[in-house]
Amino acid sequence: MDRLDGHIVCEGLVRIFKADGIEVVALQGLDLSVERGELLAIVGASGSGKSTLLNILSGLDTPTAGVARVAGVNLLGMSAATRLRYRRRTVGFVWQQTSRNLLPYLTAQENVALPMTLAGHARGRAARTRAGELLELVGIADCAERRPDQLSGGEQQRCAVAVAVANDPEVLFADEPTGELDEATAGEVFAALRTINAELGVTIVVVTHDRAVAGQVRRTVAIRDGRTASEVRRSARIGRDGVTETVTEEYAVLDRSGRLQLPAAFVDALSLRDRVRLNLEPDHVEVRSGDVEGRSGDTDATEERR
Ligand code: ADP
Ligand code: MG
Repeated sequence: MDRLDGHIVCEGLVRIFKADGIEVVALQGLDLSVERGELLAIVGASGSGKSTLLNILSGLDTPTAGVARVAGVNLLGMSAATRLRYRRRTVGFVWQQTSRNLLPYLTAQENVALPMTLAGHARGRAARTRAGELLELVGIADCAERRPDQLSGGEQQRCAVAVAVANDPEVLFADEPTGELDEATAGEVFAALRTINAELGVTIVVVTHDRAVAGQVRRTVAIRDGRTASEVRRSARIGRDGVTETVTEEYAVLDRSGRLQLPAAFVDALSLRDRVRLNLEPDHVEVRSGDVEGRSGDTDATEERR
């Protein structure tokens, strides 16, 4: 199966939380495949399962069932030692709360150098030099000597990106890194993520509840009720007048069992309910209202039914 070759692969991923005898199904059979070197955004309403997914992918949480693999590591049934190594070496993480990403008593440069020293990757001058380079990549080289409380929210998050990639992880996860920032500042953080993605080749998955980010990345996947529901792809095309234009295409996600989710707007527009009729046409599939009795004022779906 080619989709099993992705750098990040989830298939039928399930996470059930049990609290006080009540079960919450946070992920209900989620499928996702991300290529090596991709920069992917995940959007979805609050409670749709985005953080649950990222916590699993970053090795902080364990799925209840399904397949989850990142950079060849199987996230189900990892030993404690493998999990620790995975979290230290394979993945980097940026949290929404700026205070959770940086140590308050260290300068920006010291914050970036710290994980290298702890992992034994680089020490002293070498660590400081590399930290300086990473700060330059994310666009805050001039902030190297400042402590977090002397940085703006956006600068703190860009510094957090540099910290997260200090040890050259294969994958970087960011959970709503711009959640506390205004739009312009959020744009700067996304620009830093794009630069890191392009320059270091690290695969990046960034979660946000802000649908406007679709304009910041090539591919955006939407999660609804713990499943991937749709995705938007952007690509550049040279128009007839020679000007580059951006083409945006929206797709519904078809899972391995053939399930797909209709956009709420489509369902509402035709008042679809309970069951629909499907017709296979030579080059498309038709979805029609499945009412047995045509409702008055209904669409052409009733008129064409004999
Ligand atoms: P999002 O990040 O998209 O807002 P979450 O992944 O945080 O969504 O949550 C998905 C669902 O799982 C929600 O209904 C949430 O209440 C529930 N949930 C998340 N974490 C836990 C937990 N530790 N215990 C119980 N329920 C949880
Ligand atoms: Mg969340």
